[in-house]
Amino acid sequence: MSPTTTESTTSTPARPKARRGEGQWALGYREPLNPNERAKKDDNPLHVRDRIVNIYAHGGFDSIDPGDLRGRFRWYGLYTQRKPGIDSGRTATLEPEELDDEYFMLRIRIDGGAVTTQQLAVIGEVSQTYARDTADITDRQNIQYHWIRVEDMPTIWNKLESAGLTTMEACGDSPRVILGSPVAGIAEEEIIDGTPAIEEIKRRFIGDKAFSNLPRKFKSAVSGLPDVAHEIHDVAFVGVNHPEHGPGFDVWVGGGLSTNPMIGQRLGAWVPLDEVADVYGAVISVFRDYGYRRLRHRARIKFLVKDWGAAKFREVMEEKYLNRKMIDGPAPEVPAVPYDHVGVHKQKDGKFYVGAAPVVGRVSGSVLVEVAKAAERAGSNRVTFTPQQKLVVLDVPEDEVAALQTELAKLGLQTEPSVWRRGVMACTGIEFCKLAIVNTKDRAMDLVAKLETRLTDITDGITAPISVHINGCPNSCARIQTADIGLKGQIVTDDDGAQVEGFQVHLGGGLGLDAGFGRKLRGHKVTATELPDYVERVVRNFVAKREQDERFA
Ligand code: SF4
Repeated sequence: MSPTTTESTTSTPARPKARRGEGQWALGYREPLNPNERAKKDDNPLHVRDRIVNIYAHGGFDSIDPGDLRGRFRWYGLYTQRKPGIDSGRTATLEPEELDDEYFMLRIRIDGGAVTTQQLAVIGEVSQTYARDTADITDRQNIQYHWIRVEDMPTIWNKLESAGLTTMEACGDSPRVILGSPVAGIAEEEIIDGTPAIEEIKRRFIGDKAFSNLPRKFKSAVSGLPDVAHEIHDVAFVGVNHPEHGPGFDVWVGGGLSTNPMIGQRLGAWVPLDEVADVYGAVISVFRDYGYRRLRHRARIKFLVKDWGAAKFREVMEEKYLNRKMIDGPAPEVPAVPYDHVGVHKQKDGKFYVGAAPVVGRVSGSVLVEVAKAAERAGSNRVTFTPQQKLVVLDVPEDEVAALQTELAKLGLQTEPSVWRRGVMACTGIEFCKLAIVNTKDRAMDLVAKLETRLTDITDGITAPISVHINGCPNSCARIQTADIGLKGQIVTDDDGAQVEGFQVHLGGGLGLDAGFGRKLRGHKVTATELPDYVERVVRNFVAKREQDERFA
């Protein structure tokens, strides 16, 4: 027996360690337990807009208070972008301020992904004038600009807000953009149109200081169709028919990806359209009051839901915030193939919607201006962005469809794209993101081009979409865990022993019928240069060996 063991058996037994609190406001922890909580308490982040307009826009980048620059700016969709020329290997060795460029990324929050053609034209013109013609469609239905100067923000806000657009709470620990079906109100298969609920949530909760200091970001979705990745949201409402009460919504809470991915849990509750905002309010209130605020990496609502379970979460919502019981309800139906709304589809009013695929969401201000014009020439005044980084022109008369398809194709927006153009998504990556380890957009565009030419001989064998999602770091902005082939950017060792950009591979993830996270295969890494060969090999193997109608997942 070792001396240490002898000692431990003869000494007084240690008292069990008191469990540290998680900083939950409802349990009395009102003093901030980390610098982010301190910054939010010191000054409500929504106040930063006044300082941007009245101080920083005049004083320029160097006049910005660091607490605003790396914190509160996010509540208005502003992040400093990565300084050009800093390679991937140096990301982890530098302090955050050494990575800061004096330019910003700016996100416009577009709830439900829905804009008018007039708004689309304004978005494009702002990009042309103030963002070096950049515009990416994000997988949260936002538009993201780059190269924004703080000096231009007052004018940019004037232009966007005059068109009814906003950047408020596009980022930050706040109720961010509400995803919605890109074909809300027009899809033949839709159970219910969630648009009025999205409008009501915006009216009641966005920009309300009572909800602008949440423990972390809060992602939500409301859709009458299962087309918004509802399984991985903080809260999601999905259309369902109740056998007695008719069309309404099934509620999911506690989903999320990043480094601790979790599929959301059903509360088992059915919610009518006019009560969605109440239930959203109850969920966000539970999160605000009981969410964990001590450690940033445990502050998402998914950790609370995991610890409590759906039954307790629902009970607290009902007893403390709704003051009534919700109606029990059934689960939504799950589509065999996830919706992406690409192609030409008939609407329930007899018109058509036309979904088009840019490569990995990359467009430009000029392209968006031209899309607005093309849509109007085709008799439409509505366009939507999708959670798959695509865009859809709505309300097109039948005899205008073909001409619109031709115009979109000339802009690089294919309405009958290859499976690769359709299924490949990528996050911002090292081009602009300070957290990135690898380049994503360029790699993904190169991958699409190569797969389009190399795999023509097996196109007929690919009967369902195969999704390939590419992240620049372990955060999961491009939802890698839910892709057939998910690629997480990291530094890997190549055959010559050199440290190079590459990816950890996750295989077989999915949503809908195949909801679950892809398997991370130990040691299954690929260098960035090998990526096209690797994906080609995986797909050829799958097509050669699969059973009839077997899906990739
Ligand atoms: Fe940046 Fe990482 Fe998100 Fe990509 S996944 S946008 S690299 S934080």
